[in-house]
Amino acid sequence: MNTSNITLDNITASWLPARQEAAMLRLDKLDTEISGNKWFKLKYNLEAARSEGKQHILTFGGAFSNHIAATAAACREAGLHCTGIIRGEQPSVLSHTLQTAVDKGMQLEFVSREAYRHHRISFENRPGTYIIPEGGHNAAGARGCKEILSLFPTGHFTHILCAVGTGTTLAGLINSAAAAQTVIGIPVLKGAGYLEAEVKALLHPGPTSHWQLLHDFHGGGYAKVKPDLIDFINTFFAETGIPTDIIYTGKLVRAFRELIHQRYFPDNSKVLLIHTGGLQGNLSLPPGVLSL
Ligand SMILES: *Cc1c(COP(=O)(O)O)cnc(C)c1O
Repeated sequence: MNTSNITLDNITASWLPARQEAAMLRLDKLDTEISGNKWFKLKYNLEAARSEGKQHILTFGGAFSNHIAATAAACREAGLHCTGIIRGEQPSVLSHTLQTAVDKGMQLEFVSREAYRHHRISFENRPGTYIIPEGGHNAAGARGCKEILSLFPTGHFTHILCAVGTGTTLAGLINSAAAAQTVIGIPVLKGAGYLEAEVKALLHPGPTSHWQLLHDFHGGGYAKVKPDLIDFINTFFAETGIPTDIIYTGKLVRAFRELIHQRYFPDNSKVLLIHTGGLQGNLSLPPGVLSL
């Protein structure tokens, strides 16, 4: 995978005051299929599978899981078999995300929500299989995400903002940020109070940089796409040329604008937004809704 496609772009939106510097780290440019943070989370998991001599990857997700699509593409590239355990009943028409995974050679197994809850235990004994938890939430996943902040010189930023699903990416950022930087996570799930502990579980022992989760920006919950979010994504793209996605990064940038309005950041702060990718998820929308 070629990380030299990634860029660090200044953000010049109309709502951004002149005293406020902001830039976006464009992990979305990494690849069209294994875009953004997913590649960093998969990197050391696939390496571990290989070194353990395992030929088969098994992982978990829902119908709109970018992790499922990315794992399918990464396994194809690595020459590994893969299975996706999908939460819920098999729909008559697969979401674009799941269809992409199937096209890349992933086998899907649909399980009831009840069975999914106990998923790890029931799949642990398949021989030759390496299990990646849902969303790549493990130490190997967080380890890969430690490399994100060293793609470019980022030490001068005062704040680092990132959208949060499982918190794995955030943990990697916290583990690699400088002591003076503040790392802020924007959860896209509603009622995700459990996330603090999930993030902490992946942090290195000892003191870390400051970090916090801001829980008010999920916009109704995971994969809830309201017209004002669509408007925001379209306007932001028209102003900056930066495409964002409906599940994660659109909400991240909208949260950033809201925080600017609230004067959350001290004057002269320099904010780095992590574009974690996810643009393939936009293809689940009917054509023409987004003007990206
Ligand atoms: C999966 C995903 C996230 C969430 O990453 P976590 O490490 O699970 O918190 C954020 N942004 C995008 C675009 C994603 O696809």
